[in-house]
Amino acid sequence: MRITCVGGGPAGLYFAVLAKLADPANEVTVIERNPRGVTYGWGVVFWDDLLDDLFAYDPVSARQIWDAARQWDEYEVRATGKEVTHLPGYGFSLGRHRLLSILEARALSLGVDVRWSSPVTDFSDADLVVAADGAGSSLRSLDASHFGTEVALGGNKYIWLGTSHVFRTFTFGFEHTHAGWIWFHAYPFDSTTSTFIVECTPATWAALELDRLDAAAGCARLETIFAAHLDGQRLVDHRADSGGTGWMNFRRVTNQRWDNGNVVLMGDAAHTTHFAIGSGTKLAIQDAMALADAVAEDGPLAPALERYEHRRRAALAPLQRAALASSEWFERMPDHAALPSIRFSYALSDRRGEYPLWRYLLHRATQQAVPRAMLRWALSARRRTRARRRPGVASAPSARAAPLPTGG
Ligand SMILES: Cc1cc2nc3c(=O)[nH]c(=O)nc-3n(C[C@H](O)[C@H](O)[C@H](O)COP(=O)(O)OP(=O)(O)OC[C@H]3O[C@@H](n4cnc5c(N)ncnc54)[C@H](O)[C@@H]3O)c2cc1C
Repeated sequence: MRITCVGGGPAGLYFAVLAKLADPANEVTVIERNPRGVTYGWGVVFWDDLLDDLFAYDPVSARQIWDAARQWDEYEVRATGKEVTHLPGYGFSLGRHRLLSILEARALSLGVDVRWSSPVTDFSDADLVVAADGAGSSLRSLDASHFGTEVALGGNKYIWLGTSHVFRTFTFGFEHTHAGWIWFHAYPFDSTTSTFIVECTPATWAALELDRLDAAAGCARLETIFAAHLDGQRLVDHRADSGGTGWMNFRRVTNQRWDNGNVVLMGDAAHTTHFAIGSGTKLAIQDAMALADAVAEDGPLAPALERYEHRRRAALAPLQRAALASSEWFERMPDHAALPSIRFSYALSDRRGEYPLWRYLLHRATQQAVPRAMLRWALSARRRTRARRRPGVASAPSARAAPLPTGG
């Protein structure tokens, strides 16, 4: 089969890897418009469910992703005028740059033809064309009415920054300014860098003059606002070099159909999921897994593409509901600001409003150091047990061993 993937993000590269693993005779090309090593964004988070899938589909790249990932083992919530509180839950984070370099190397080693800085040329000889060219997919735009593409803009303003301040764990920080509330979602993703996503309402954004400042001045203003959290470290906006800034409204992309002849949408080109639940990369990679399964079955392409779409729509639906509820919570964030600290962080964690009462009681109890450490320890033990079940993982790396409860 001749396969062309347009877009060398997680979706396009991972599908290329799986297509080669399914049949080394497949001729697979990835066309990426950026030069090698150039991408947007900073680190992304993911959880055990993605690692389980990665190990099931390609243990070689899974192992590299796992080894490169940074682990964090709770959420910290800070807000002006409130005590610091904590939410249970562990996860992993990895720089987008590093993730793509692992997938690129794996694809090249399997014989995928990866073309960087490459304009989309004629791919009329391809049996399958995968539009993995992101939320603004130009391939999809060529036939937007066929796909039934809709793009809804989120109400808040956000910017995806990086910082050399290495946060201890996943941290939400809410600052009250003269212009209203502004907050960040931050987490470390390697030994020197953290993701730092800033969000606020458009009114606060304009009142803080973030609509008028260039990238350097805007970062300087945010460094002042969030000085208590940054330990004197800088914020970095990738867009500074191009003369713009990274401020955006989230684009919620949906499509009524995902295929058009031999062209199929995948990842953000097919659907986006608000960053407040940190799942878009996972969903893009799981799309690649589902498409690889569908086309590996013998038979014509059209029903295979239908099977792929059907499977993925079913899997996406609950997460998309969660993402929508989550983004709406952040759009109404100032309404929750008067809650006392424990109730505030609980409202943040229960953004869909579905938790049973015992979760609140547990949340209250685990604000104390000892119960919190015990819960962290129990979750860590569960994580190690789950890790050992993965193919090729005889034992969890020592660096990931569960720390004994310390009461910290
Ligand atoms: C602020 C923010 C934070 C996020 N945090 C997380 C997180 O923590 N966890 C998580 O799972 N997800 C997160 N996401 C979502 C995640 O980044 C995306 O869902 C994911 O990158 C989608 O992968 P993709 O391969 O479909 O698209 P992309 O990663 O966007 O890749 C598309 C590729 O196509 C290339 N391209 C575009 N047009 C063309 C063209 N015409 N020709 C050739 N190449 C082209 C682009 O250069 C790019 O390399 C976040 C998103 C945002 C905005």
